[in-house]
Amino acid sequence: MKILITAGPTRESLDPVRFISNRSTGEMGFAIAKAAKRRGHKVILISGPTHLAPPKGVKFFSVQTARQMQKEILNNFSSAESVVMAAAVSDYRPAKESRVKIKKSKNILNLKLIKNPDILEVLGRSKGKKILVGFALETGGLYKNALKKLKEKKLDFIVANQLTKKQNVFGTGKTNVLIIDKNGNKAHLRSVTKDEVAEEIVSRIENLTNWTNWTNWTN
Ligand code: C5P
Repeated sequence: MKILITAGPTRESLDPVRFISNRSTGEMGFAIAKAAKRRGHKVILISGPTHLAPPKGVKFFSVQTARQMQKEILNNFSSAESVVMAAAVSDYRPAKESRVKIKKSKNILNLKLIKNPDILEVLGRSKGKKILVGFALETGGLYKNALKKLKEKKLDFIVANQLTKKQNVFGTGKTNVLIIDKNGNKAHLRSVTKDEVAEEIVSRIENLTNWTNWTNWTN
């Protein structure tokens, strides 16, 4: 199966020196790419800036902005059977990118931001038989918000996790996730590593497409 996976944050430039971004490390998306490759799939990994090395054997594209990510996804979308959007795409970008470094002047500097395209929502509109998987990171109302995103973006399932003072979801370490499928079924994975979450995601995609890894039978 050909699986398209996105990872990492995007960076939206304010000027040649500064950008708006988020705390995503890319660990989740890279773990999914590794699991998918290990299970015999063809993997395309499109990632924003991270410190991670792409797993061996995956087709890798590095991007900076949400719009660059969208362009690269659309270049690869038609040939993929499933898409996992693990990237933390910036919802907004500066309305104007200054060609020169913005100078310090008044005490208050107002930034005007405009909305980026919701890539997953756009993909959802032309998904056909493809499997679409999204993520939701919430600071409250995990189930309600994740369910809303699942429906709005026409996903097959969504992987949701809650950011609390106790649970830092960024980087390595164990995490708790809630998976909701399009029939409303819920599954809690508690105290799991990102590698374990990745295996679960790929195995669910395989089940949804009735994919059988025949190489397992010959080993
Ligand atoms: O609506 P929210 O940003 O929380 O949705 C998260 C999901 O949507 C993630 O899977 C993320 O990759 C995707 N997304 C996107 N384009 C955006 C924002 C989020 O594809 N502009």
